[in-house]
Amino acid sequence: MNKLYFVVGSQDLYGDECLKHVAEDAAKMTAFFNKKFEGKVTVELLPTVVNSETCIEDMRKVSCDDECIGVMTWMHTFSPAKMWIKGLQELRKPLLHLHTQANEKLPYDSIDMDFMNLNQAAHGDREFGFIVARLRIPHQVVAGYYEHEDVVERISKFIDVAKAINFSKHLKVASFGNNMREVAVTDGDRVESQIKYGWECNYFAIGDLVDEINKVTEQEIDKKMEEYTSKYTMKTKNIAAVREQAKYEVGIEKFLKANNLGAFADTFQDLHGLKQLPGIAAQNLMGKGIGFGPEGDYKISAFSAVLMKMSEGRKGATGFIEDYTYDLTSGKELELASHMLEVPVSFAKNKPEIDVLPLGIGGKEDPARLIFDGVEGDGIQVTMVDMGDHFRIICADIELVKQPKPMPNLPVARIMYRHKPNFRIGTEGWCYAGGAHHSVVSTALTREDIALFAKLTGTELITIGDDTTEADLQKLSAY
Ligand code: MN
Repeated sequence: MNKLYFVVGSQDLYGDECLKHVAEDAAKMTAFFNKKFEGKVTVELLPTVVNSETCIEDMRKVSCDDECIGVMTWMHTFSPAKMWIKGLQELRKPLLHLHTQANEKLPYDSIDMDFMNLNQAAHGDREFGFIVARLRIPHQVVAGYYEHEDVVERISKFIDVAKAINFSKHLKVASFGNNMREVAVTDGDRVESQIKYGWECNYFAIGDLVDEINKVTEQEIDKKMEEYTSKYTMKTKNIAAVREQAKYEVGIEKFLKANNLGAFADTFQDLHGLKQLPGIAAQNLMGKGIGFGPEGDYKISAFSAVLMKMSEGRKGATGFIEDYTYDLTSGKELELASHMLEVPVSFAKNKPEIDVLPLGIGGKEDPARLIFDGVEGDGIQVTMVDMGDHFRIICADIELVKQPKPMPNLPVARIMYRHKPNFRIGTEGWCYAGGAHHSVVSTALTREDIALFAKLTGTELITIGDDTTEADLQKLSAY
């Protein structure tokens, strides 16, 4: 179970009685958070920071515990911040500064100086805020009474993002084949990706994967086919082609597991030994949280895995998609987003159909794929590009809509969406920002989640939405 450590600040100036109250209140709050975040994280209280040594000990524990996703701090009393410097220098996990109090209301009739000294977050949290700012530690501040729903909700969102960052720091990504020939935006600096996000991106020979796939037994294929037929409608009569994909999925799953991989990228230009491009195999794996990038796009493979992790437990769909084509009817512009095959099944609005149809690219046999219409609702489209000296995340607010008419001849799954604030500013902004044609679309995550991820990982962020203006476009185009 993921852990969130809670570290409360004080000092020994006010006597043991005061520190006893601090410890009691902190324990009470910890119990409250454990109830609220049950099934999500366990909150563990560390010793109250009363000097530099306890702070160093606490922060070392936070940083060295692999199950720990982050730390939440709060100053019950004043806690001189020089005591926090060396400890915070040891911190390597996301930090949430909770600006709260043990009491909601002021006890106007009984308040005295003892109460004031015990309950002075307004004072102590400013001292703490200064030192975190002075140390330039990216962090999130959440202010308000800790039991209030909005405060709990914001802590909960921090936990989701911190969990995703912890996952990111442990993520291994396999590239079967290289980046697609001549394509620029899918490429990037893998060394920098590992330094910044922890992604261990390594090359694996497609032949080694094919060996694993060829070892898959008929029984294992039968079992996978049972999974397919229980979840999806079999439209095709070409069962052999579907069984071929089932074999791929079992083989890929085994390969990923054996190598501790959470994401992979393949390319239709390097499928030596495979009869089909993985279609339903990739679609079904993405539906289980496995990151995937086509055309050797290791960045979107890793990033999609991280964002799927972030959205865990929330309503809505999250997954990889590609910008494809538009309906440019004036004032009613829509985008049709899809891929040559690999649209994650998470986007399915209705029960997907399995079909086997020709693929006009790659020169392989007709692949089996899942076909469906996409979910609807408010969402975001997010991508990451390598600008040469830094990574940039671009996040656009979109509205996923019902496709206006059936598309009976389109042999792939698809989603459709409206750009914000409108087609022109939305797409011009994306182009100016250098946004890729591969992205992650989510109806579970919001711009706030992405902004927090960008902040905590120190990544440049460009947002596009209803608040984007003509003036913003001018600034963007001047980059
Ligand atoms: Mn593509």
